[in-house]
Amino acid sequence: MAMKKAITEQRGLKWIEAYVPGKPIEEVEREYGLSDIVKLASNENPLGASPMAISAMKETLPEINLYPDGSSYDLRQSLAAHLGIDFEQVMAGNGIDGLIVQLCLAYLDEDCEVIASRSSFPIYDIYVHAMRASLVKTPLKGYGLDLEAMAKAIHERTKMVFVCNPNNPTGTIVTTQEVEAFMARVPQHVLVVFDEAYYEFVASDEFPHTLSYIEQGRQNVIILRTFSKIYGLAGIRLGYAIADPGILGPMYKIKEPFAVNLLAQAAGMAALKDEAFLRRSASENDQGRRYLYAQFDRLGLDYIESHTNFVLVKIGSEALEVQKHLLEKGVIVRPCDGYDLPEFLRVTVGKEAENNRFIQALEQALRGA
Ligand SMILES: *Cc1c(COP(=O)(O)O)cnc(C)c1O
Repeated sequence: MAMKKAITEQRGLKWIEAYVPGKPIEEVEREYGLSDIVKLASNENPLGASPMAISAMKETLPEINLYPDGSSYDLRQSLAAHLGIDFEQVMAGNGIDGLIVQLCLAYLDEDCEVIASRSSFPIYDIYVHAMRASLVKTPLKGYGLDLEAMAKAIHERTKMVFVCNPNNPTGTIVTTQEVEAFMARVPQHVLVVFDEAYYEFVASDEFPHTLSYIEQGRQNVIILRTFSKIYGLAGIRLGYAIADPGILGPMYKIKEPFAVNLLAQAAGMAALKDEAFLRRSASENDQGRRYLYAQFDRLGLDYIESHTNFVLVKIGSEALEVQKHLLEKGVIVRPCDGYDLPEFLRVTVGKEAENNRFIQALEQALRGA
């Protein structure tokens, strides 16, 4: 007689809290019977994507029966030229998310420890736990990452440190000075992962030029960037990693054979050429962010000054209630209880009309809460 034994999930999963993405527009339409939804919850580009990227995808569509180039050769050549680095120092991936999976698969064992900050990007936690490695979380300093605490947390079993810069969801940066002091303390057996998803939005001259570590041939650094945010291509799933080829090698070993799809490769190459779109995205974002700051000031709400296309605003103990009121009015923003910041909401900078609607709805919600 067969034994009755349930199929169990792998042990790492008991540590994982499933990622809760920004609510999709269709879901809010369905649940609240609304149309005309404003989604300011996932840091997408309100201007859409570069028209050049869109035509490149259209031109590629007739070839969609073919597998993509598994090595993303042409795209990587374009990226290398764009960044002024060697072709072997860049790897394309299925978004930064996909690259994080590859990083964890390639490097983490059960006896490894990984350091990340509290109130940072939650995807790190998921794949560190999936590999059954241990995760150490350092506290925030103010609302930014505490690189000193992160350096102090390093010991023999430490394998990786995730430095989300600018940090999601706080929008803060760590500076060149802080990063240099940190890097001077990081031993060679620890891989520093700079997640620079919002790199192109940063205007501060205090922002570290991490690429110089790669140019200097430093072996224990990897930089992650994406086409999802300023390039407006979140739906196509495209990101890239910059590192010494020796660091990328193990990641190639376990990479999905065709992780970067055909349309994504075409879109990425075209998007890189559209500098006008990038500039317009950055400047409209600046304008929108200033508008939000001014409105938060008017409403007497505290916020964290941001280097990105989102702003963290302090609502107080009613934050979740306010977020629900906003949903009822068709405005989706991100609650931050899952980020250890339950009194805050994270709002993406939208188009002028979207920002206006958000502020109107927020004022009503604050009165209602
Ligand atoms: C949005 C975001 C990502 C995800 O990027 P994809 O390329 O869309 O996977 C990674 N890191 C941070 C900090 C982000 O905010």
